[in-house]
Amino acid sequence: MKRLAKHLLVVSFDAMNSHDLEKLKNFPNFSRVLKDASYSYEVSSISPSLTYPAHTSIITSMYPNKHGIIANTLMQPYREKPDWFWQQKYINVPTVYDKALEKNMNVAALLWPVTAKSKITYNFPEIFANRKWKNQILVSLMNGSKAYQYNLNKMFGKLRDGISQPKLDDFVEASLLYTIKEFKPDLTLVHFVDLDSMRHYYGFDSIQADEALVRHDKRLGNILDLLETENIMDDTIIVVLGDHSMKKTHSVISLRRLFEQNGYMNYKKDKLIDFKVITKTADGSTYIYLKDKSIKDEVYSLLREFKESTNAVEKILDNEGIRKVFADNTADFLVDAKEGYYFTDKLEDLVINKVEMVGNKVKDGYLLSSHGYLSDKEDYHTIFIVKGKGIKKNFDIGKMNLVDEGVTFAQILGLDMGEVDGRLLKEIFEDEI
Ligand SMILES: [Zn+2]
Repeated sequence: MKRLAKHLLVVSFDAMNSHDLEKLKNFPNFSRVLKDASYSYEVSSISPSLTYPAHTSIITSMYPNKHGIIANTLMQPYREKPDWFWQQKYINVPTVYDKALEKNMNVAALLWPVTAKSKITYNFPEIFANRKWKNQILVSLMNGSKAYQYNLNKMFGKLRDGISQPKLDDFVEASLLYTIKEFKPDLTLVHFVDLDSMRHYYGFDSIQADEALVRHDKRLGNILDLLETENIMDDTIIVVLGDHSMKKTHSVISLRRLFEQNGYMNYKKDKLIDFKVITKTADGSTYIYLKDKSIKDEVYSLLREFKESTNAVEKILDNEGIRKVFADNTADFLVDAKEGYYFTDKLEDLVINKVEMVGNKVKDGYLLSSHGYLSDKEDYHTIFIVKGKGIKKNFDIGKMNLVDEGVTFAQILGLDMGEVDGRLLKEIFEDEI
């Protein structure tokens, strides 16, 4: 396969949607990257449309049922805060970066989900200290490239305040610029989370979310400037993408309270003791797993009744329905919330609870905007921009899917992903592939 460019740089802006790009196309740096690019405002995410499954679909071109990252967090029923799918060991299929590493290419990844303990050359993985006694910097060091991360912390650590935003993205940006300048990797993957965090905490249309857009535009500008001053723009293909959109939320559904009231879950105070049914939230939707399959019909009736007596549920998929959306097919049900609602795995006081605020910020543990819904929700698209050597100029790709991205990245680097779920975006290339 013919390699199109020496460098591929993939910049992910978490939760960026089509309406954001409508605004951003008039900003100084998004307008710069959109000029002479191929682009889509109609990218469908995968189901459930969560960050970890989505980023894994982006770099494998496979759906969650095959790549194995079916939610953000692991099934650890008795743990209040389960661990996340941090390590690459959870991915069941090849990634673009594996293929690049096999060909002796240098790969850098900064906060790209599910890369911890991978063989990535310059790896600063997304992982946080999930136990009180663990130190954030040490946890990161142990799960990525030690010397590389040590240097990043030494040089830019002052920009950072744990994992709080927007400082974390400022740290990632400084680290990215240094990495490109110093190592000029063949493949660079970077994930910025500022916008997603502001929408979760302050709301979809909040001033804070608008300010995050301004910061993202500046970050993109600094990246483009560096590619120019380092004279590598001509041999770089840059991709700017989002992983999912988001919806405003006002209420949170605690199906565990419903199951507890009906004798399917047993709690002592707030502590789970035993269960016949367990939920695994993906925020906008939730998986439901049965310990004993003989209660399937009664649980389904209970869910149907809940759907009919409230206005909170969009769809209840059974196992067959789950297979059709390529989510975790070991689950018995996948329940999709209506716009305005999302699911929690906490045992709340009521089955449906109002999202609580503290001043202008959402109360700890709640969300003012959510994602993780089934990907076919209305007005729920994310974005994709690709630009550089051999890529068609000012070309609207139209409808596409996250799973079409990895196989297209592989083509750019002259790599073969083998059989995948996604479609190579052949139409973006100037010359026939
Ligand atoms: Zn995300």
